[in-house]
Amino acid sequence: MAKVVVLGAGISGHTAVLYLKKLLGKKHEVVMISPNSNYQWVPSNIWVGVGLMTPDQVKFKLKPVYDKKGIVYKQAMGIAIHPEGDKENKSPFVKINYVEKGREGEEEIVTYDFLINSTGPKLNFAATEGLGPDKFTQSVCTYDHAAHAWENLQIALERMEKGEHQTFLIGTGHALATCQGAAFEYALNIAFEINKRKLNKFAEIVWISNEYELGDFGMGGAYIKRGGYITPTKIFTESILAEYGIRWIKRAGVYKIEKGIAFYETLDGEYLEQIFDFAMLIPGFKGADMKAYNKTGEDITSTVFAANGMMKVDADYTAKPYEEWSATDWPSIYQSPAYSNLYASGIAFAPPHGMSKPQKSKNGTPIFPTPPRTGMPSGVIGKVVASNVAYRIKSGKEDHPHHATMAKMGAACIVSAGYGPLSGQAATMTVAPIVPDWNKFPKYGRDISKTVGVIGLAGHWMKLFMHYMFLYKAKAKLGWSFIPE
Ligand SMILES: Cc1cc2nc3c(=O)[nH]c(=O)nc-3n(C[C@H](O)[C@H](O)[C@H](O)COP(=O)(O)OP(=O)(O)OC[C@H]3O[C@@H](n4cnc5c(N)ncnc54)[C@H](O)[C@@H]3O)c2cc1C
Repeated sequence: MAKVVVLGAGISGHTAVLYLKKLLGKKHEVVMISPNSNYQWVPSNIWVGVGLMTPDQVKFKLKPVYDKKGIVYKQAMGIAIHPEGDKENKSPFVKINYVEKGREGEEEIVTYDFLINSTGPKLNFAATEGLGPDKFTQSVCTYDHAAHAWENLQIALERMEKGEHQTFLIGTGHALATCQGAAFEYALNIAFEINKRKLNKFAEIVWISNEYELGDFGMGGAYIKRGGYITPTKIFTESILAEYGIRWIKRAGVYKIEKGIAFYETLDGEYLEQIFDFAMLIPGFKGADMKAYNKTGEDITSTVFAANGMMKVDADYTAKPYEEWSATDWPSIYQSPAYSNLYASGIAFAPPHGMSKPQKSKNGTPIFPTPPRTGMPSGVIGKVVASNVAYRIKSGKEDHPHHATMAKMGAACIVSAGYGPLSGQAATMTVAPIVPDWNKFPKYGRDISKTVGVIGLAGHWMKLFMHYMFLYKAKAKLGWSFIPE
């Protein structure tokens, strides 16, 4: 019997355990270790943040699903990987720390034959002074944060109803933050809700971003087909912001927040301030802060993980200038080069480099978006890693028949821009591939016939449909595996 341990029940890890159990059956053990007893459909947190959904509508308890499927669940955090075991344990193991009520702080050693690290991003609020829901800004990265953001948004709305002016600042809260898409979506939803209440004259909405040009979204921007013509995402994004009456600040690295003031540095080297009454700024992301040790107890964290705490996999991490970056640098099986039974999926793997051109301010501060890994590739990668691990267990072979490189994979992103059965709309964008491949597609970097953008009511319906469909799939209900990632 083989034992596969997965760390992190997010989009990627949860997909991985469900496929592992489906492929391996009762003969093998599948273990999930994750601190939150709930699964959350993160994309719908945007709607929690504007009061259109409750946290209960975007989450469900994991244990009943895992019990039904025969997956062992431990409500704990992975804290250290020992890929060679240690003096007492010959088998590789992961050290975990329980967060389950009544067992808080209890440590345990969980041995494994294969380990998949799907710990996602650590929300690094601490990297920006004053940032975060327990300080001066809001977040929509988790359902709790989003519910808290909605409480504060209601206060701002009530003030406007009394005739008071309010400034909303939405965007990135760190010079190297990614996930612009989520912040952009939240800005549009706030604008829509203000408009719905006819409060526009009391509101100023400001978009602040570390992007060189708007529409970069951490993927170096894109050319998209829209109607009969081809347009850069810069124009697409700017026209949407203009339509929603949102002013923008770009090339800005937010470095400090005080009550009602965001301090930022621009690429021109200026230090500026933006006042706000309500701010939702995405923090920088890093890896889960896990350590790694070899069998003698020596710290090998820097062998297993990159400096940002994300795990090194089969990517080309050679430092090279932007002009030499290539689609082939990106990983396809997500296996650790140091330990063949160790994998990372979703946001937990270290990308070889960004997709956006790195920029430095006149003062030498790097200000540009780091690469995003959205839900769709995170799910696909989870499935591919699970399929390869199951194949290795069942065949006893070492090869990997399943591949998923972001340099070949396409992704669809639906940015909701207002919620309502008839008045709602969303900007739907598909890019193929996610990582531009200038050798294969010298003109636009991507396949222009599959890189498309539209905005309209249909997108809103699609986004709502995906909310129910992906929660159904995540609950592993009948036919779940036929629903694509
Ligand atoms: C507000 C918002 C809206 C978004 N909207 C979209 C969208 O519309 N479309 C889209 O494609 N993408 C969207 N994304 C991005 C998408 O949510 C992510 O790509 C996706 O969640 C990444 O999946 P993941 O499994 O790698 O990480 P996560 O989903 O973050 O899961 C990581 C899991 O690991 C757990 N964990 C953390 N540390 C440890 C540890 N030490 N040990 C064990 N477990 C640990 C966490 O608790 C969590 O359960 C959005 C993101 C945000 C924040």
